[in-house]
Order: sequence, then structure tokens, then C-alpha cells
Amino acid sequence: EIFPGDFSGNTIQRNTPKVLFSTVEPVGFENPELIIFNEKLSEEIGLGKLDEKDIDFLAATNLPENIKTYATAYAGHQFGNWAGQLGDGRAILAGEITNETGQKNEIQWKGAGATPYSRHADGRAVLRSSVREYLMSEAMYHLGVPTTRALSLCLTGENVVRDIMYSGNPQEEKGAVVVRTAESFLRFGHFELISTQKEINTLIDLTDFTIENYYKNITSDGEQKYKDFFSEVCTRTADLMVEWFRVGFVHGVMNTDNMSILGLTIDYGPFSMMDEYDLNFTPNTTDLPGRRYAFGKQGQISQWNLWQLANALFPLIKDEKLLEETLNSYGNYFWEAHDKMLCRKFGFNELKKEDEEFFVNWQSLMQDLQFDYTLFFNLLEKLESISDIKTNFQKISYIPLDDSKIKKIEDFIQTYIQRLKTNTISKEESLDLMKKTNPKFLLRNYLLFECIEEINNGKTEILKKLTKAIENPYEEIFPEFSVKRPIGYDDISGCSMLS
Ligand code: AMP
Ligand code: MG
Ligand code: MG
Repeated sequence: EIFPGDFSGNTIQRNTPKVLFSTVEPVGFENPELIIFNEKLSEEIGLGKLDEKDIDFLAATNLPENIKTYATAYAGHQFGNWAGQLGDGRAILAGEITNETGQKNEIQWKGAGATPYSRHADGRAVLRSSVREYLMSEAMYHLGVPTTRALSLCLTGENVVRDIMYSGNPQEEKGAVVVRTAESFLRFGHFELISTQKEINTLIDLTDFTIENYYKNITSDGEQKYKDFFSEVCTRTADLMVEWFRVGFVHGVMNTDNMSILGLTIDYGPFSMMDEYDLNFTPNTTDLPGRRYAFGKQGQISQWNLWQLANALFPLIKDEKLLEETLNSYGNYFWEAHDKMLCRKFGFNELKKEDEEFFVNWQSLMQDLQFDYTLFFNLLEKLESISDIKTNFQKISYIPLDDSKIKKIEDFIQTYIQRLKTNTISKEESLDLMKKTNPKFLLRNYLLFECIEEINNGKTEILKKLTKAIENPYEEIFPEFSVKRPIGYDDISGCSMLS
């Protein structure tokens, strides 16, 4: 049965035993308008030179008969609780494309209409969340962080009603569709769904499919294959978390349905890049006061999510002790990789025992003096040429620095310089390491906010500039972006909201 994408809400969630999808057709839009198109990505994935003429495809409108579109069912733990069946509620898949080198990519519209998994929502996306997803996923890609990617952004020509934070004051916003791509959009939640439904054969099929296609390095058989798979998912997830810590990314909604089985950053909702360093920072206003998904908790939370995946895979592995051991060693693996990453940020070529204390002191300095995470490391790179500590460090702090605070900075710098001297690489190599590890450009929330305002007013100057900046994050192309968040943007409404 084909579901036309025009559900009017209150649809009953469809249950699809033995399969994880429903056929569904995008709703189609009368007057779509192309806002951004990612030519390079289009070529890369083998779609070739798509352009404005292909807007019908990009806006999921008047699709050719031979495109069979579908949405997938998954489940998940949301904010620590079992949420039961979920699914692609506003995402529809166009299938998979293979490029010249044999690399496969799934293509998906976000905001193209409701699906049998939309529950009470409309399957639409607004311009605000679509611009944020498009730009941030591309920014992460160019930063070198594993992520889903974005091919295009179209305005749909229709308005969508959103009651932000249940204010009781619903507002109309412009509707939009993003086309996003990934090797696969499979989530932990897909495994959780069939496992709780006790469809063991489907679980085996899905896991075998995943290993065959996306974990080609696994060559073992039988139960060992599934053990190796779980262990590899743990490694990829830990590596991803370390990357988030490196660049200062806070996801904001690390529910298991938002955890990619490939270790990609997926589902850009109320995320934020961190301005002032704060382990307790969460951009998600619905995550207060618990701060489950705060910046500093992302390592632990990913481990908790992996526990849920372990439960889902249990019918295939049935070795409680091994699963427990794998999960326990996750913590050690993560922290070692995390500390090695911090070493690179500081220009240290290896992790030493005494670095733990150094990092703890550094963290408390960052928290106390409210330094901008990114600008702090950019300033460390220039330390030798700085004569005026006070002026330079004041520029990167969000609070006034009095003499006692300046003294703390001076003490820290002394320790840092001593530590640098124990390096076994040259000064140049150390600096090079820092420049490769610490981004110069950060897609801050206030920049996204300004960009969205501008597009709403029919202009795209900021968008063009940001597109250039995100493609070269380790260079300073626009000096005006190398400053801390301007005053007046401390609480950017509309940027921290859930979908
Ligand atoms: P998220 O927290 O944004 O990842 O979404 C959680 C679940 O709600 C997912 O299953 C989404 O597909 C669904 N969802 C979110 N927004 C919408 C929407 N506008 N229409 C339908 N489903 C939605
Ligand atoms: Mg999601
Ligand atoms: Mg989402």
C-alpha cells in the first residue's frame, strides 16, 4: 500500500512486521525555490551536474515514475526512556546512488511530507532548522568530522505553523526541504525496533547487511562476526565523540534514534558549537535542568546508548560478560583518545602521565575565566609574539579579567611553556600540529541566526560568505569571524529550539 504524503496529523503509526520501511510518496510542492546547491557533493556521489533545472527532484516534486520512495521505521530511547516505535517522520528516502568508484550513498529528503511514522506531526521542516542542518553538516564535513552531508536546500513555497516551545502563540514560518546524503542513515534505533519485536531473523538480516556493506573490514564468521561488529561500532562512536570534543560540538539530542550505526553525526536539531568553554553547556532548552546531553557528558551518554545497542544485539551475541567488558573498556578507550586529542590541540606530540593534571587545571581555568574554546587555542598558537597578556586574553573571555585572573593566566602559560619544552618534535612541527587540530572558523549559533534572518528577508550575502568560510575552517578567510560571540547574542532565540 502506498501512502501519499498528505497525512493530516493524528495518523496511527504503522507497524510493519519483518520489514523496516513503508512505501511513501513525497507530498510535492507547487512553487519550490532553490536556495543552496552543493555542486561538489553532487559530482562526488555520482549525481553529476545537477543544477536549478533539477529543482523538481531536489524539492521532491513531480518525481519520475521509476523512483520508488520510502520511509524507514526505527525505535529509540529518548532522554533515557524507552520511546517505542518511531521512524522517519519527516524524512523520505529516494534510494541509493553509486558513483564511479563504487561508493554508495543514500539520498533523503527532509521535510517533504508526512510518512506512516509521523505520529502527530506534519512531516514538514522549516527554513530555520533546514539552514541549520545544511550549513552545520557541511561545516562538520570540512572540519573532518564524520557526518551526513547536505546536497541542497529549497524553500517549498508553503508556510508551516510552529508553536515554538509550546508558547501558545503559533507562528507561520517558511517551509523548506533539505536533500541530505550518507553512506547509510541506519541508526541504533533500527536494531532496537526489531530486537524488541523479537524478529530475530530480521535482526540477523539487518546486521549481516550492515556488516557486509559498511563494515567490510570484518572478516570473521558466526557469533564472532557480531562481537567484532559491536566492538567496531563502539570504536567508531568513541572516535566520533572525541571529534565532537575537538571542535566543540554539542549535539543536544543524543537519543538512540539519533545515533548513527556508522558513527556519523546525524540529525542536526538544537546543536551548537561552543563559544565559552563550559562542560555543562546544553543548547537544548528542553534538556534543562537535567542537562543529560550537555557538552561534557557526551562521552558517558554515548556509552549509555551503546548499552542499549548491546541489549538489542544480545540475541546474536548472547555473551553478557563479553558485552559488559566491551562496554567497560569503552570508557578507557574514549578517555585515552580524548586526552591524545587534547595533546594535539596543545601541540604536544605525545600523551604523558602528568598531562592529566595539566588538563584538569586547564579546564578549571577555562571554566573560571570563561574563555572562548576555539579562540583560546588560536591565541596559544601566537603566544610567542604576544607582549600584552591582559589585552589579548580579555579579547577571548566573556567576563572582565581582573589582576588575580591575569595572574592565573600567567601561571598557566608558564606551565604550558615548560610542558612544550618536553616535546620530542620541533617547534615548527608542534605549531603545525596545532594548526591542523584547532579550527580557525567556527559556525557559531549567532552566525546561523543572522544567516537565517537574511534568507527570510530574501537575501543571501551572509549565506555565501558562510559557505566559503565553512569550506576552509583551518584558515582565516574573514577576520570578522575570528572574534568571540558579540554582545546581544547571549540568548539567541530560535536557535536552540527542538524541531
Ligand atoms: P528528532 O528529535 O528531531 O530527531 O525527532 C524525533 C522523532 O520525531 C523522529 O522520529 C522524527 O522523524 C520525528 N519528527 C520530528 N519532527 C517531525 C515532523 N515535523 N513531522 C513528523 N515527524 C517528525
Ligand atoms: Mg531524529
Ligand atoms: Mg531531527
